[in-house]
Amino acid sequence: MKLLVTGGAGYVGSVCAAHLVETGHEVVVLDDLSTGHRDAVPPGARFVEGELGAAAGDVLAEGFDGVLHFAARSLVGESVQRPELYWHGNVVASFRLLEAIRAHSTPRLVFSSTAATYGEPEQVPIPETAPTRPTNPYGASKLAIDHMISSYTAAHALAATSLRYFNVAGAHEAFGERHAVETHLIPLVLQVALGTRESISVFGDDWPTPDGTCVRDYIHVDDLADAHLLALQYAVAGEHSIYNLGSGQGFSVREVIEACRAVTGHPIPAVTAPRRAGDPAVLVAAGDRAAERLGWKPSRTDLERIVGDAWAFAHKRA
Ligand code: UDP
Repeated sequence: MKLLVTGGAGYVGSVCAAHLVETGHEVVVLDDLSTGHRDAVPPGARFVEGELGAAAGDVLAEGFDGVLHFAARSLVGESVQRPELYWHGNVVASFRLLEAIRAHSTPRLVFSSTAATYGEPEQVPIPETAPTRPTNPYGASKLAIDHMISSYTAAHALAATSLRYFNVAGAHEAFGERHAVETHLIPLVLQVALGTRESISVFGDDWPTPDGTCVRDYIHVDDLADAHLLALQYAVAGEHSIYNLGSGQGFSVREVIEACRAVTGHPIPAVTAPRRAGDPAVLVAAGDRAAERLGWKPSRTDLERIVGDAWAFAHKRA
């Protein structure tokens, strides 16, 4: 297939673009490089530098079989401080993309949605049928796009899939996580092992969890990429499918730090800090729907494997 990958110079987008190129698809990456990196665009993909909303129409006019839409702002804290960036950068830009998809009759769309659309869960593991009550503008902007996609799918015979990521982690052999402002647990812990950070702050140790620290569902970015390929394959015109992407297993902040110690051999000092606003205690996916309908089964679920791949990438770049 000829596929447009928006945000293909970012972490998840670059890894998915690499998987698409490796499986023989023709890939065009559209990215404004606001947070992505030119050298993260995989060799074999054509690169177009441009702002999504402005450039999508011209690019899609060439004719494509599908769009994988990763381009987004994705910092929860920033979304609370500066919501306008999220309504514009995520919702308005995605609306323009959908309009370009409609104008050029692009048949397929795979969208990077998020577990943040659910907000504070009533039930864990979280199924796709759980209520969606996002607790921050980031999650709200992604949910708004999911609703937009549903209406376009029904009205314009688009075959669409939203993939709700839990905690994406690990690295592909060539591409991984490189954020200018790093907020994610595993790369921050690995910075301590690399010597660029003194200690890791544990945001709260009095949560109602077995060891008092928050529990998350860490999913390897290569497993995530596999799900995107399956989503393209199984998409049906006129249907908007929504799938959670997680492994269904939860690891606490302390367990993650322990795994990083085991992988790196570094003592990694940890300091208890106040809870971070908006953090739910436990977020774990019920992944049955993706297993049943896409045949997706994550295979890189061992925590030390996930951390080990992130470490190999971080080390290579240091
Ligand atoms: N966390 C932490 N210290 C940090 C960064 C994150 O204790 O310096 C915790 C955070 O409170 C959450 C978990 O690690 O419970 C994962 O956070 P991350 O930001 O990686 O992902 P999120 O779950 O917010 O999407």
